[in-house]
Amino acid sequence: MNKLFYNLAAAALLFSSCSTKQADLIVYHAKVYTVNDGFDTVQAFAVKDGKILDLGSDDEIRKNYKATTEIDAGGKAIYPGLIDAHAHFFQYGLGLQTADLRETSSWKEVLERLVTFAKTHPDGWLIGRGWDQNDWADKAFPDKTELDRLFPGRPVLLTRIDGHAALVNQQALNAAGITKSFTVSGGDIADRNGMPTGLLVDNAVRLVSDKIPKPDKERIAASLLDAQNKCFEAGLTTIDECGVDASLVDIIKKLQEDKSLKMRLYVMLSDNEANYKYLFKSGAIKTDRLNVRSFKVYADGALGSRGASLLQPYTDMPAKSGFLLSSQKHFEDVAKLINEHGFQMCTHAIGDSANRTILKIYNKVLGGKNDKRWRIEHAQVIAPADFALFGASNIVPSVQPTHATSDMYWAADRLGTKRIKGAYAYKQLLQQNGWIPLGTDFPVEDINPMFTFYAATARKDAKHYPEGGFQPENTLSKEEALRGMTIWAAKANFEEKEKGSLEKGKLADFVILDTDIMTTAPDNILKTRVLKTYVNGEKVYEKK
Ligand SMILES: [Zn+2]
Repeated sequence: MNKLFYNLAAAALLFSSCSTKQADLIVYHAKVYTVNDGFDTVQAFAVKDGKILDLGSDDEIRKNYKATTEIDAGGKAIYPGLIDAHAHFFQYGLGLQTADLRETSSWKEVLERLVTFAKTHPDGWLIGRGWDQNDWADKAFPDKTELDRLFPGRPVLLTRIDGHAALVNQQALNAAGITKSFTVSGGDIADRNGMPTGLLVDNAVRLVSDKIPKPDKERIAASLLDAQNKCFEAGLTTIDECGVDASLVDIIKKLQEDKSLKMRLYVMLSDNEANYKYLFKSGAIKTDRLNVRSFKVYADGALGSRGASLLQPYTDMPAKSGFLLSSQKHFEDVAKLINEHGFQMCTHAIGDSANRTILKIYNKVLGGKNDKRWRIEHAQVIAPADFALFGASNIVPSVQPTHATSDMYWAADRLGTKRIKGAYAYKQLLQQNGWIPLGTDFPVEDINPMFTFYAATARKDAKHYPEGGFQPENTLSKEEALRGMTIWAAKANFEEKEKGSLEKGKLADFVILDTDIMTTAPDNILKTRVLKTYVNGEKVYEKK
């Protein structure tokens, strides 16, 4: 090679490397909802080291960057990775360790589901729940014959939909010490000629379920990883884990360090002595994927079971008005303690009395405008005079739109036609601070964030009921709902500078959907599917 040519080639290389920068990933031919302040859309973006390097038009990004992986999004809509601001991730994962036997049409189908489930969950107790023989053509209770044949080596416990009966196999009977002619008070052990058939009722079920070992580290890890897979499939890249013990934080940390757990988690510790000690000693824990700086406190119970604490009695049970789960003093003491240590307090409050109690304590401790982002989880029933107490001390209402559309069938029975106007009042709550985080409370509700988006923007459930929407004056706009599931949820976690929108320097967490939920007809929202989910620029889910 002659010297002049060599120099020219080197210069060209130098020149091109100056004008075209190297990225890890380029996504183009998309409609990217950045969810930045201006709610701008762009066509393309480049990712490097897990972060957004640049955004712009297809031409700009493809001219200025080179990447080993380039994705043609086929014109699809892309959103920031979705955040669920209130869920029970670990509990949901534990549930995934049991076979779902709901809506089976025969005993044969139950057995088929168990065989499939056992393939991915091969060890220890085989637990299933939700069968109902009333749904089957043959309504007679089955016996353990087939369970013994299919699963001779492991105990099996299958609880009925109501939890009051169960089918078990011989291994499970052995574990509980149930033998011929065994009896139990407050329960029944079905038998044939004195020999147990495997069907147990009430207290007899407990004889067996008490023998199931507490989840060990492996089972806990499997639960977290199973939950993660379902979340990625749903487009969720950050979950607010609302109330767990510090011991779980240690397991999460380890799984994240070894890179098996890629989910980003915002963990609230439960209100108990050991957890306060743990976090006050360790200080806030913050990595790219884990943030522990808050406590979850319960003020009252639920509206459905009339455990929510109301200012006036239940309309459908005038002798009851619910109750607080701890004394006023306890709430005051922990609020002061949490404030002194600079952490965030997040309190479950459903009834208007519970909300008033907590709002007043928060206002007293926070003392007016502040940026401590103390949260009320659910903020479900608010007395008209109390809405202003949110804005007065920047208290964040953390709400779950599917609760409105699940409860709407009976909530007015509990509250009456007047009081219900202050319930599930998301628009009114949004107006307090100008922003509001949204979640689901899964596994109480379905994990699917499209249900949240639809419930928030149409105020209808999955059956598209009711016509016109439930209390439509509290409908959120599509932009507000999307912000609630992304940037505002990030803000409720003090993470709006790193995630929740697709902007330069922010984490490359994003989701590609098959439908543009911002423009499609409302009734298509629930049919929307996630095509791909990315965390930190890494593909963690792709629809098959
Ligand atoms: Zn919850």
